[in-house]
Amino acid sequence: MKQKKIPMRMCLGCNEMKPKRELIRVVKNAEGEISLDLTGKKSGRGAYICRSADCFRAARKAKRFERAFSCEISGDIYDGMERELENDE
Ligand SMILES: [Zn+2]
Repeated sequence: MKQKKIPMRMCLGCNEMKPKRELIRVVKNAEGEISLDLTGKKSGRGAYICRSADCFRAARKAKRFERAFSCEISGDIYDGMERELENDE
């Protein structure tokens, strides 16, 4: 039996593999700005987290976004994304 392949991605918060469409993409655009991609339409380099502020905070604490995008991310940017994520939950 052949199973249909579901694209899986790892959450930077809990490190679990989940179907891509259940995760939220965080993108770094050409200008080097980091933002949440709630529509899935932004272009740029992406990293994934669960639709959960807990996973976001875990990833922030462990600086996994910095590592994924190899850049510094300011507290303001993080706070903004966290708020957006909480509103979306
Ligand atoms: Zn997670």
